[in-house]
Amino acid sequence: MTIKTVTVLGTGVLGAQIAFQTAYHGFQVTAYDLGDEQIAKAKKTMDWLAARYLADLPGATQADIDTAFANLSYATDLTEAAKDADLVIEAVPEAIELKKKVYAALNEAAPAKTIFASNSSTLLPSAMAEATGRPAQFTSLHFANEIWTHNIAEIMDHPGTDPKVHAEVVAFARAIGMEPIEVLKEQPGYVLNSLLVPFLRAAAGLFTNGIASPADIDKTWRIATGAPKGPFEIYDIVGLTTAYNISLMSQDDTQLKFAARLKEDYIDKGKLGVATGEGFYKY
Ligand code: NAD
Repeated sequence: MTIKTVTVLGTGVLGAQIAFQTAYHGFQVTAYDLGDEQIAKAKKTMDWLAARYLADLPGATQADIDTAFANLSYATDLTEAAKDADLVIEAVPEAIELKKKVYAALNEAAPAKTIFASNSSTLLPSAMAEATGRPAQFTSLHFANEIWTHNIAEIMDHPGTDPKVHAEVVAFARAIGMEPIEVLKEQPGYVLNSLLVPFLRAAAGLFTNGIASPADIDKTWRIATGAPKGPFEIYDIVGLTTAYNISLMSQDDTQLKFAARLKEDYIDKGKLGVATGEGFYKY
C-alpha cells in the first residue's frame, strides 16, 4: 500500500471520527474544514473521541492517544490541506451539488497521485465521478457511526474506478482497523443500509399500526435472534431527527404516520434519542 498521508474534508460527526481513527493507526492526517469556528469545534470533538477510545477500546493507552494527536493537524486552506495527500476522504454534508463543487476544487488543489474517496451514505459514486476530474482514482469508502467500535468500511466503486485504486483503499481500510466490506456493484445504501433501512421501517410499521410496543418489538428481536439491540434501540442511537427525515422521504402512508408521531411525541419534546438522554428509552 502506498497510502501514508491522508486528508479528511469535513470535521463533522463522521469526518472527525475518520480523522481520529486514521491518526490513531499511525497515518499523518490533515483535518480540513471551512473556518476557525469549525476547527475549534473539531478539536473539542477529538478530545471527546480520545475519551471514548480510552473507555471503549480494551488496550487503548494514553500513549496511543498522544500518538493520534501528534499525527493530526488541521487546515482551513484546501491547497495546503491537499498538497501532500495520498488519499483524501470526503465527509462534507450530503448534498450532491455541494459535493461536486468540493471535488472540482479538490482536483485543482491535489497532486495527480491523490486518490479520492467519498463517505456519502446515499449518493452513488457514479453521480460524483466526473466532478472529481479523475474518475479512475475515485471510489466510495463508507463508515458506520462510532467507527472505533462499529468498525466496518464499505468500499463501493463506480464502473470507472481503477481496480488498483480499489485494492489500495481496501488495504487502507484494513490498516486503520476496519473490516473492509467490498460492495461488488453500485447499490444505494451499500450493504449496511440496504439491510438496516427496511428492518427499521418494518419495526416502525408494527409500532405505528399498534401491533406491539417498542419495548416488546425490541425484546422479540433480541431474544429470538440473539442480536444485542432491537430496532427502537437502534433508532435512539441513529437519532430521531435522522429517523424522521428518512421516514419523510418514503411515499408510504405508514412511514409518514410514523414520521408525524416521531415529531409530535418525541422531537418536539426534545427527545432525540441517546444524544439528548431520552428517545424511545431513557439513558
Ligand atoms: P456533519 O454535518 O456532521 O459534518 C459536515 C462537515 O462538513 C461540517 O463540519 C461542515 O462544516 C463541513 N463542510 C461543509 N461544507 C464544506 C466544504 N465545502 N468543505 C469542507 N468541509 C465542509 O455531517 P456528517 O454526519 O459527518 O456527514 C458527512 C458525510 O458522511 C455525509 O456524506 C454523510 O452521508 C456521511 N455519513 C454520515 C454518517 C452519520 O452517521 N452521520 C454515517 C456514514 C456516512
